Amino acid sequence: MELNELWKLVLGELELEISKPNFQTWLKNTIILDQKDDELIIGVESVFAKEWVSNKYHKTILKIIRNFSPEIKSLEYQIHQLDKQPSKKSIFTSRNREKLEETKSLDLSEYSIDLKTGLNSKYLLDNFIVGPNNELAYSAAMAVIDGPGKKYNPLFIYGGVGLGKTHLIQGVGNKIKAVSKNKYSIKYLSAEMFVNETIESIRTNKMTDFKNKYRKVDVLIVDDIQFISGKEKTQEEFFHTFNTLYQENKQIIISSDRSPYLLANLEERIKSRFEGGMVADITYPDFETRIAILKNKLINQKNEIDLGNDIIEEVARMFPHNVRELEGALSRLIGILKIRKVPPVLNVCKKILEEINIQKIRLVSVDTIIRKSAEFYNISEKELLSHSRKKELVKPRQIVMYLLREDLKYSFPTIAQKLGGRDHTTVLHACKKISRDIINDKSLSQEINMIKDRVYNNGAGK
Ligand code: ADP
Ligand code: MG
Repeated sequence: MELNELWKLVLGELELEISKPNFQTWLKNTIILDQKDDELIIGVESVFAKEWVSNKYHKTILKIIRNFSPEIKSLEYQIHQLDKQPSKKSIFTSRNREKLEETKSLDLSEYSIDLKTGLNSKYLLDNFIVGPNNELAYSAAMAVIDGPGKKYNPLFIYGGVGLGKTHLIQGVGNKIKAVSKNKYSIKYLSAEMFVNETIESIRTNKMTDFKNKYRKVDVLIVDDIQFISGKEKTQEEFFHTFNTLYQENKQIIISSDRSPYLLANLEERIKSRFEGGMVADITYPDFETRIAILKNKLINQKNEIDLGNDIIEEVARMFPHNVRELEGALSRLIGILKIRKVPPVLNVCKKILEEINIQKIRLVSVDTIIRKSAEFYNISEKELLSHSRKKELVKPRQIVMYLLREDLKYSFPTIAQKLGGRDHTTVLHACKKISRDIINDKSLSQEINMIKDRVYNNGAGK
């Protein structure tokens, strides 16, 4: 088996499991160096990375590898440098090496971040597919490009994980940068970075520098604003930055996983500022939009494997709730077809797609479902598992039962036991109720999908 193909698949899986910054820092540049019987030798970039990867991710990596190659029993980590010639012992034939170079350069373009603006050049509006799910957000974005700070200020985009918020707001930044020929100073950052920088500047007494940094820009783009919930000092700092920019008619663009109205632990004065601008949501792409996204991706990647429309439609049908997941499924399908050297016909692909779906679910534990659901409803895990009949606890608890049943396929008695020992008929009742309610209650089904996004895609609040 081609080891670097295998590794690409493993990395794809790891990307879903761990947070993006961690993935980029520790795993993105790893490769497989060799295989000795049932041991794989993994190349990492530095001593530090070796320590970190072997301590933190060893188990996860092994678990994922064994999904693809059960014969692998252990892993070893070695330091390597990507630009060095491979040693004689290396497994790279020149062809393999060529391939590796290819994936390397692809990876680099994937993550080329401009240090000045913080923008990633891969997010262009030219490859953003517009459909009924995002057209309002898209047209507001276009108006902002036409006249930054003039029309919709702030522009507030919200929606679930993996639906294209980052792509859209970065796309706006990149477009303004291109058309204004650097006339505008643009700054993109995640709210998580804003929080970290606030803390750091307090610690090092550099508050003035920090204030100046963001109050002097023409376009400020802040991603995933929900991260500042409950962080008072950051909120205060953000509020002042916001006001300064707003009063000077500078453009502010914000994304969030929920509407301003639903942002818990956020000061009212900030919420009302958000609500005063243009608020637009992005929802799930419909079937046609998903097909367009997949086709667009295939064209951009110039794949050697030619997938028929029936197969593309099957991918679109099976992954409706998250574009990242949709694209991931397509790449993995192609990867697996290449490794197994099987023809890309519909029934073969269907089976592979089912495997992809099941593997994703298998990696999720009961604890994750409980933790992410509790986080979503702002309650503690203890409350969720308690026997209290309070309405605000009963619903989350029933949803957890439903997810354990529907997704992890546990039996009713097992669920009853895992949730702190209760009667299994309670579980049965809960699952029936949620399955019934979900049909007519659109907001309930959206809530459940948001929780699933967090559970399966490492979304919000990792
Ligand atoms: P979010 O920030 O909402 O979690 P992202 O912007 O990171 O989601 O999108 C996830 C992935 O899906 C990215 O690779 C992005 O390029 C892709 N994507 C999302 N929406 C679209 C779209 N409408 N057209 C093309 N690609 C999209
Ligand atoms: Mg995002």
